[in-house]
Order: sequence, then C-alpha cells, then structure tokens
Amino acid sequence: MNIELNVRKNDRVVVIAGKDKGKKGRVIEVQPAKHRIIVEGVNMVKRHNKANTRRGIQGGILERESPVDVSNVMVLCPHCGEPTRSGHQVLEDGKRHRACKKCGAAIEKQ
Ligand SMILES: [Zn+2]
Repeated sequence: MNIELNVRKNDRVVVIAGKDKGKKGRVIEVQPAKHRIIVEGVNMVKRHNKANTRRGIQGGILERESPVDVSNVMVLCPHCGEPTRSGHQVLEDGKRHRACKKCGAAIEKQ
C-alpha cells in the first residue's frame, strides 16, 4: 500500500514549526516513505563543496534545501490563501479529493 501524504509536489505550503516557521514555499520534492518533503527556500543547509576543476565544479559553499517533516508544514489553499489542514473528502463517485477546511474549495487538481 502506498503511503499517502496530504502534501503533494507543487503545493504551496507554510512552515509552522522549526527555524523556518512562517516561511512559505513550493513543494519541490515529496518523500512519502520518510514522511518528509523538500520546500523551495526552506531549511537551507550550507554544504561545502570541494573544487573539481576537471569536472568544472567550483569549490565553495552551496546552499541547498534539506527535507522537513511533513507535519511541520500546512498546505496553503490556492483559493483563499489560508493555511489549512486539508482533509480528505470522499465524493459521491467514491473519488477522494483534498479540500480546504476554511473555504471548502477543492485543493486537488488531479
Ligand atoms: Zn480555502
């Protein structure tokens, strides 16, 4: 069975815990098995890179996003812009979709 997260790639989310609390960004990677996601501009970690002139890699400090736990973010509703714990709704035809609990708009665009 697939582990399903409420957060999907390309969702806009706001960080609700940790050092980046309050930051907003787009989800660029989802790691369901680890329950983690990578959010653009969030949880930046400096990595020291050794120069490798043969491969044309410049040495220096690179900043990259590192994963955050999915429970540390909330999805931003694309309709009302409010952070929401999106709940799964089961539609009449049996399909599930995610919906904003504030304005009721469907977040899903599958
Ligand atoms: Zn909404």
